[in-house]
Amino acid sequence: MPSPFDSVPLLRDIAGFYRAPEGECLSHLIPSAQLSPIEQPKAVARATRWIEDIRRTHKPQASVTDLLARFGLTSNEGLALMCLAEALLRIPDRATADALIRDKLGGTHWNEAIGTDAPWKLNVTGWALAITGKVIELDDTEWSSPGAALGKLVSKLGQPLIREAIKGAMQWLADQFVVNETIAGALERAKAPAKEGVRFSFDMLGEGARTAADAERYYKDYENAVEAIGAFQAVHKFKRPSGISVKLSALHPRYEIAQRGRVMREMMPKLVALCEQASRHDIPLTIDAEEADRLQLSLEIAAELMKQVRFSGWEGLGFAVQAYQKRAPAAIDYLAALARSHRQRLTIRLVKGAYWDTEIKRAQERGWDDFPVFTRKCSTDISYLACARRLLAADWIDPMFGTHNAMTVAHIHEISRDPAKLEFQKLYGMNDDLYRLMQKEGFNTCVYAPVGDHDVLLGYLVRRILENGANSSFLHSLFDTNVPIEKLTADPVAELQSHAEMNHPAVRRPPQLFAPDRANSEGLDLSDPFITEPLLAEIARFRQLPPRVNAIDTNSLDTMHALAKKGYAEWSSWPVEERAVKLEKLGDLLEKNRAELMALLIYEGGKTLADALGEVREAVDYCRYYSARACADFVVRDLPGPTGERNQSRLVGRGVFACISPWNFPLAIFLGQITAALIAGNSVIAKPASQTRLVAKRIAELIYEAGVPVHVFHLAPGGPDIGNAIVKLPGLAGIAFTGSTSVARGINQALAAKDGLIVPFIAETGGQNAMIVDSSALPEQVVDDVITSAFRSAGQRCSALRILCLPDKAADKILAMLAGAMRELRVGDPGRLETDVGPVIDHAAQQKLLEHVARLKKEAKEIATTALPPEAANGPFVAPQAWEIPSLGWLKEEVFGPILHVVRYRTEALGAMIAQINATGFGLTGGLHSRIESTVRQVERDLHVGNFYVNRSMIGAVVGSQPFGGEGLSGTGPKAGGPHYLPRFAIERVTSNNLTAAGGNASLLIAASK
Ligand SMILES: Cc1cc2nc3c(=O)[nH]c(=O)nc-3n(C[C@H](O)[C@H](O)[C@H](O)COP(=O)(O)OP(=O)(O)OC[C@H]3O[C@@H](n4cnc5c(N)ncnc54)[C@H](O)[C@@H]3O)c2cc1C
Repeated sequence: MPSPFDSVPLLRDIAGFYRAPEGECLSHLIPSAQLSPIEQPKAVARATRWIEDIRRTHKPQASVTDLLARFGLTSNEGLALMCLAEALLRIPDRATADALIRDKLGGTHWNEAIGTDAPWKLNVTGWALAITGKVIELDDTEWSSPGAALGKLVSKLGQPLIREAIKGAMQWLADQFVVNETIAGALERAKAPAKEGVRFSFDMLGEGARTAADAERYYKDYENAVEAIGAFQAVHKFKRPSGISVKLSALHPRYEIAQRGRVMREMMPKLVALCEQASRHDIPLTIDAEEADRLQLSLEIAAELMKQVRFSGWEGLGFAVQAYQKRAPAAIDYLAALARSHRQRLTIRLVKGAYWDTEIKRAQERGWDDFPVFTRKCSTDISYLACARRLLAADWIDPMFGTHNAMTVAHIHEISRDPAKLEFQKLYGMNDDLYRLMQKEGFNTCVYAPVGDHDVLLGYLVRRILENGANSSFLHSLFDTNVPIEKLTADPVAELQSHAEMNHPAVRRPPQLFAPDRANSEGLDLSDPFITEPLLAEIARFRQLPPRVNAIDTNSLDTMHALAKKGYAEWSSWPVEERAVKLEKLGDLLEKNRAELMALLIYEGGKTLADALGEVREAVDYCRYYSARACADFVVRDLPGPTGERNQSRLVGRGVFACISPWNFPLAIFLGQITAALIAGNSVIAKPASQTRLVAKRIAELIYEAGVPVHVFHLAPGGPDIGNAIVKLPGLAGIAFTGSTSVARGINQALAAKDGLIVPFIAETGGQNAMIVDSSALPEQVVDDVITSAFRSAGQRCSALRILCLPDKAADKILAMLAGAMRELRVGDPGRLETDVGPVIDHAAQQKLLEHVARLKKEAKEIATTALPPEAANGPFVAPQAWEIPSLGWLKEEVFGPILHVVRYRTEALGAMIAQINATGFGLTGGLHSRIESTVRQVERDLHVGNFYVNRSMIGAVVGSQPFGGEGLSGTGPKAGGPHYLPRFAIERVTSNNLTAAGGNASLLIAASK
């Protein structure tokens, strides 16, 4: 059977492998990842010789390689160090810096972690303390015990010198990863190795620009660097010139496929200019590979560069390809075909990939059908080796191999026809021992060398520590003599074949994330144009909305209620498993009709594409989660008691439940309430919001199509009069309501005034949601999460961020970045892929928000307002905006739209800030960005909110993972999508049966006689 990788390498074919089944990809790769029986022992012998040599001669020093080898990521100490290195240098204030140090160095077990390995111990002690040794007095025991020494350090944190010394240590750590802070300094350091034939590829630190200003600054850095490297080469005329590596996410603040048009317009000219500048100096320029969802765009850019750059004989343009991606072989074929068709040599740097954990998490969160990367380390190795063979066979391609793995190097050396032409590349500071040996044996080598300030080092640093600190990493095991060399030189194919399944069982594929309880809802990869283009076309088919749904007559409610009572009698007698079958079918129907539902959400509800997709997924999750929970919980339970008596409890439906839902989640909240009430055995009268009746009507049709009997579910569209009338229905068994606090209060009072039953009232209401940031937080992460939390869904989520609380010392920096990032948002037609923020629900909502803006204009300070496009004049748009308000108390009520309020607080006044948030009386969502565990614990303990989010956005609660709902003015609980929700829709009945009534206790006699 021909390999699909052999087919015409068009972009569509590449996309076909994006999330392809792992086994399928690997079965095509395995044959070309193996060595012949003659080659294999030769490669193993070479790698073994190197490893033995390294283990014999390596002198432990306070280097990064040693640090990683010692601590790894499985120890608390490793993680503590990583966190300290990541955060300490950016903290501007003493109190937070001290808290972080205490947090990371105080509680861990350094003595055990460092062990008794004498040279190492000396070195680490030296590392941590040499810098501080001048500052504190240590006695002999303390000197020989790193734990004691660090403990003493921490106890003296009040002394400024100590803090500075630890900062110095972290600076030292950062220095191990960065060749120099300036390109001039870096070139100076490169001179000697370059004379010995080592080439450098300089990486100007900085990635993921959030603002146009950042992107411009990074561009200038690249431009200066190319100029400097070019001049350096002109002077020294090294045989193998050094070059530059470029991250495209640094050159554009929205380097993502959804913004393809802008990227092509705004970034391409800069990139072409950089390439031509490199071409003029005849130095190599390689484009780094970043997250998987950027690959498609990077390949499109490669094609454009081939068209636009005037190469004039330059052969230095290169692209990095990550072998851990399933698309790697097809991407190589594509680049090779580009090179061939333009008759232009290209370089390809083959790397294994640096974002593995991010890719796995992202795919799980987004509910994709599979991962874009392999799930076993040996599979990544197989892919790397198969790709290497492919590269070596390609004409018009000059391969470069980025790896620190001795066996990988030996394998490639073995399959190469002309090893003298190969180039191997390493990261600065990593596995110098191996590369020294390789150089002695005549290998061409290159060092990827980061240059820049420590404050932009962090993303790079953390990736390096993560990828090399894992137990599976070659570098982590290199110095561990407990790991036999045979393990390090093992054939990855043999290793893979020793496993029963290709996928790693510990890495759950997204569809199985909640197995065995239920299937995960299906997500779509909106970064894949081969998914989004047909999806958009299908959604467009439903653009013409059906006619408006009329309100029912209040008089018809009594009939509806009577029918619903009949429905209850029938439905509650069904076994719960049968009710569950219907709801699971409903979940499947939602997925089947996804495009139509998304169209309704977009064109009736103003949702963007991503929000509409997220909402369909949430609704599907409700169907499946509540079905699974009910089947587990609505069973007859035996209760303990004396012998001769059987005590059993069971949950049964209450009667006719009213479900009253808002317009902001016209599918997910609407259906969440309904499915909970139904699965518990109730019949339902559901009143959707007036603004979103079309969604509700379509859902009602699907509920019936799923097999829920007509008398069991009733749709009651209408305005507040219908809502009031429903609440007053005599004999109603309960109400589930989501909406404003004031309406909830009205319902509560109406229920209290009613004669007859006292029934459950489950209310989810508004929030005055705040996010607290401390100065240990990473501004980029804060800004991303603030934008998502405050502006996604045009701020019309109950969970949305309303008040951002910033520490006075870090506020200006964060606000400048936030303002820049807000300028990059796109407001407009929610049906377009590039739209970030759609309209608000209607003109009344717009008007109310604009009135609030008028007050802000008078009494607050504007931070930023996103520009509205001309088309916004045609709809109820409100520009995303951020304002600094005089105090938290200034904000009197929930502002339900894309308006963010900012307050500053003094670090020492964190407790008072929390008290002010609590004093609003609301308690829905809260957020915190901090690297300090003790702060996390403090805020978690003291902030009274139903859902607390740490170092992430505050929206998008996932059914079953983040049960959702507030306290205080924000709702009654229990939480939707949580384990305590369904019982509230049910009554509990207990039967106590005296089994001895008919005579004696036979079972006791039998049991006792055994
Ligand atoms: C010159 C150079 C340039 C680089 N440029 C880039 C770049 O542009 N983009 C980029 O992403 N990285 C880049 N890297 C980083 C590179 O991806 C890592 O250094 C590399 O993965 C380490 O591989 P190794 O062969 O040294 O180590 P090894 O220890 O042999 O392999 C580590 C690899 O295995 C993967 N892995 C670990 N566990 C699993 C698992 N369970 N399933 C699947 N895979 C697993 C890791 O993600 C990592 O890719 C570059 C590296 C070098 C040397």
